[in-house]
Amino acid sequence: MLPLLIASFTGFGLGLLLMLQVMRRRARTLQQRAERMQQTARRYALGDRSRDVPDYGDDDLGDTARAFDQAIRELGQQLDQLSRDRARTETVLASMAEGVLVVDSQGRLQLVNDAARQLLKLDRSALGHPYIETLRHPVIVEQLTGGLEGAPASTLELTLPLDPPRMLLARVASFDSEGRGAVLVLQDVTDFRQADQMRRDFVANVSHELRTPLTAVKGYAEALLDDPDDEEMRERFLEIIHTQASRMERLVKDLLRLARLDAGQEQADASPCDLEPLLAGVVSDIEQVSSTKRQQVHLMVAPAVARITTDMAKLHDIVRNLVENAVNYTPEDGSITIEAAGTGGAAVITVSDTGPGVPASDLTRVFERFYRVDKSRARPGGTGLGLAIVKHLVQVLGGSITVANRPEGGAVFTLTLPQAPSGV
Ligand code: ADP
Repeated sequence: MLPLLIASFTGFGLGLLLMLQVMRRRARTLQQRAERMQQTARRYALGDRSRDVPDYGDDDLGDTARAFDQAIRELGQQLDQLSRDRARTETVLASMAEGVLVVDSQGRLQLVNDAARQLLKLDRSALGHPYIETLRHPVIVEQLTGGLEGAPASTLELTLPLDPPRMLLARVASFDSEGRGAVLVLQDVTDFRQADQMRRDFVANVSHELRTPLTAVKGYAEALLDDPDDEEMRERFLEIIHTQASRMERLVKDLLRLARLDAGQEQADASPCDLEPLLAGVVSDIEQVSSTKRQQVHLMVAPAVARITTDMAKLHDIVRNLVENAVNYTPEDGSITIEAAGTGGAAVITVSDTGPGVPASDLTRVFERFYRVDKSRARPGGTGLGLAIVKHLVQVLGGSITVANRPEGGAVFTLTLPQAPSGV
């Protein structure tokens, strides 16, 4: 009996020990799995989803862990997508020419892109501060306030007192996101407005320049029709009509050339060019007028620039225009000097005269279309477009041109050209 009892107790004890052993092993495995899950959760919290899904086991706990893992990975992908979208939006905003400024429902600056920062003279520290305190333009402040109060989207034009002043279109619209916010878009329209004004001035100038000769042609033609038999009058009037028609023809020719130059239709056609004969040709072109005015014309070409590579026809047109002006604006018995010299790989051609010169305030403007220093002194044959064409032609040749007054009186135009331009 006793041995049987001992055997059963021993069996029970062994069974208990075995069970405890199994339970301890399971507890350890469970602890290891829990640690793995915690480690994975910590990695996810740091944004690291680079490793494969760990082995969570095949039981209910494993299924639950896998479900969480899947949800976290999907959320992570959405976060990645969101931050990619955000980076793209920031790049778009930073590269926009328009200024963009966003105000939240509390009236604080939530976003200001680079263009808005520059236009409104704001620095980065303005972010998060109330727009009423940071913006110094009452009109914009008023517009934003309207937007925050739910006024319909509005656009207004304003001039910012910057140096130089900028003309802006300011658009404000409100949006709803956790309360009503407002977005301001600033578009700089200064260049557009200036171009528009220049176009209007140009059309007005062309009309004005054409009207004078046209009126004369019409008037003299009518007089001829009224009295066709007066031989002497006919000849005189026909001559006037011819002169005025030629003036219109010159104007139209100059306008067409400017239009071609504007459209980039005149390219430089460079070839080796002997400067002395080219400049001498210009002198002989104007000889008749200069000798009538008893003017002396001097020409000097330094050996260093005897031959340059450039577009001869265009260089001829440039110098001819400058010399023609010099002859026309210089009084009788004056003198005109054309000089060509070389400095550091460039050819420098100057045309100077002993005329009245250009008033200091007009020096920067004489190359503008139709700009004349003194309308009453404008020469009869001039179109007011000569120097504008010259400026364009010089650009085509890759050079530059300036005008100044000589200390002893008279104007000096300085043309600088590359001796052997690249790409010409
Ligand atoms: P224009 O047909 O009137 O000569 P330009 O474009 O050639 O037109 O010249 C513009 C203006 O520049 C002239 O009206 C004149 O006032 C001034 N100008 C040009 N060349 C000279 C010069 N050599 N001396 C003085 N003024 C000049």
